[in-house]
Parts: sequence; structure tokens; C-alpha cells
Amino acid sequence: MEITPEKAYDDITDLAALICDTSIALVSLINDGQQSIKSRHGIDADQALHAVHLCERTIAQPNDLFVVPDTRFDERFADTPLSINGTQLRFCAGAALSTLDGDALGMLCVIDETPHQLTEDQENALQALSRQVVAQVELRNAVEELKNSTVQLRNYQSQLEEYHQQLELTNARLRTLSVTDDLTGLHNRFSFEEEFRLAFESARQIDSSLSVLLLDADHFKSYNDEFGHPAGDDALRMIAGYLKESMRSTDFIARIGGEEFVILLPKTDGKCAAVLAERCRKMLESCSCPERPITVSIGISTLDERHIDTGMLICEADRALYHSKATGRNRVSHASELPLT
Ligand code: GH3
Ligand code: MG
Ligand code: MG
Repeated sequence: MEITPEKAYDDITDLAALICDTSIALVSLINDGQQSIKSRHGIDADQALHAVHLCERTIAQPNDLFVVPDTRFDERFADTPLSINGTQLRFCAGAALSTLDGDALGMLCVIDETPHQLTEDQENALQALSRQVVAQVELRNAVEELKNSTVQLRNYQSQLEEYHQQLELTNARLRTLSVTDDLTGLHNRFSFEEEFRLAFESARQIDSSLSVLLLDADHFKSYNDEFGHPAGDDALRMIAGYLKESMRSTDFIARIGGEEFVILLPKTDGKCAAVLAERCRKMLESCSCPERPITVSIGISTLDERHIDTGMLICEADRALYHSKATGRNRVSHASELPLT
């Protein structure tokens, strides 16, 4: 059978009344400076507190057992007799309850209509029961504290989880920011370099082809000078949009300089890269730029056994781009077609 805390106090008052052979037994506890009845045996709720207040005057010291064998001969009851519902009560005894630190907890008392003398055994039993009440109170307080700290712990845990999620979101945002070009939303130079290194290693490992396109907007300075920097920004965004639209999903597009773009073409040989580059050039040439047509010059390089690192491959693409510029702009050149220097 489960013993609820209230039942535990009721057991104590039942036992106290039985052992001391009284009609009434009470446990009162002090909450926020006020006595309240925790358990009562043989007395109405509305009379119980009154009885406790009357008994209180007999308490000399905490933990003291007080016994009033007959209230008629006790001066403390001379002015205000111990009476409940018109019935004179003659006997009261009990113990003031207190913690080990001496804090007052309340009172356990037994009351009867007839005078009594308690035997030593009864007194000892009453004191033992009062210690049981204190143990119950302390147990309940400890359980309450445990509950509170468990709730607090849960709150801290959920707060911690929330912070963690926010941190993850911030990190994800920072990761995106650190690899994205603000103006166009394409990958940035940092992101490209990382991707290029991986693509280079992968192509080397599986002996697959890899081509690189370098694009540079032609006469872009004059575009800015003529139509203003914001219009130039719009044009750069437009170029980025067209590139994204025209390239394959496996191609990696980045803006690596003011009006310079790069496209990594995995598993793409030089011939195929030239076709894609030409398609791209033509599309940009014919795009409806609001101010004036914008063209791009493109340089291509394709991985072969001579290339020992990404730097070498990009250098060749740059040389090819320079060639496109030097030979009239708005054109595509492949590094392999250039005269040896
Ligand atoms: P070329 O055909 O030889 O490439 O000539 P160009 O004028 O395009 O090249 P240049 O290097 O002389 O000028 C590049 C211009 O690109 C200058 C600069 O104002 C412009 N530019 C660079 N970054 C941005 C940007 O973020 N926004 C805008 N609107 N313009 C930019
Ligand atoms: Mg440039
Ligand atoms: Mg340019």
C-alpha cells in the first residue's frame, strides 16, 4: 500500500491518541509564520487550530515535552480555559517540533476531556512520534527541493538546447556567407579555390577530364563610367543569372574578381568545354542588358598530365583569356591552341 505524506501524518496522530489514550491528537505545522493543521484525530477542522493556539502557550522550549495533567490546576489556563464547542478540556500534552538547527516546525499534541497522567513509556512514545513528524517534514522538504532542482535542470537543459540550435543556425549562416559572393549569390573565390582543389584531386584519382573557363566582362570600366556603379552591379547580377541558367548542374560557377567569373567543368574535355564556352559567350552577347549589350571574353584550360597543381591550370586559362582580350574580345580561346611562349 502506498503511504501518502498526508496518510503518514494521520498515522502519527492515530498512534498518539491510541498510546496516550486521549480522544484528540493533532499535528500542526508552521507555514510562512502561520500554524496550519496537518493532521487531526477526533476534532473538527474549525476547532483544531483553536486547540493548537491554546496548547501553544504551554511550550517552553523547542523539542520540550509539555504535559498539563489537569488544566483546572494550571495557572496558564486560569484566564482562558481549554474549551472546545463548550466542552472543557482537562488534559493536554505534546511536543514542539523543530529542526536540528532549532527552527520551529510546529507541534504534536494530544488533548482529552478528562485529566491524565502520562507514564514514562507514553512520554517516550510521544517524543518518538514527534521525531517521526520532523523526519516526515524534512523528507518532504528534501523531495520538494529535489523536484525544484530537477525542474531547474530541465529548464537549463532546454535553454542549452535552444542556444545550441541558435549557434548551429548562426554557424550555418556564417558558413554560407563565407562561401557566397554577396553581390551575385554565386560562390566566392574562397569557395572556388576549395572546390577546384577537390575537383583537381578527384579528376587525377579517377583519371577523368576537367576543364576551367575564365570569363571577364569586356570594357566593363566604361560601362560603369557611362551608366553608374549601381547599373554595373545590376549587369554583374544579370551575367551571374545567365551563367547559372546556361550551365549544367554539375558545373561550379564562382565570381572571383570584380567582373571576373570562373566555371569548373568536371568530366569535360577541351572540345566539350569549347562548345559550352561558345554557347555561354553567345548567350551573353544576345542578352537583353538594359543599357547596352555586354560581352565577355573567355579563356579555357583542360587538365592533362603536365599539370601538377591547380595553379598551373588556372594560369593557362588566364593566358587564354588574355589572348581572347588581345585578339578583339567577345571571343573564346583554349590554352592548347595558343602559340608556345
Ligand atoms: P577589359 O575588357 O580589358 O576587361 O576592360 P575592363 O574595363 O572590363 O577592365 P578593367 O580591369 O579596366 O576594369 C574593370 C572594371 O570593373 C573596373 C571596376 O569599376 C569594375 N568593377 C569591379 N568590381 C565591380 C563591382 O563590384 N561592381 C561594379 N559595378 N563594377 C565593378
Ligand atoms: Mg578584369
Ligand atoms: Mg573586364
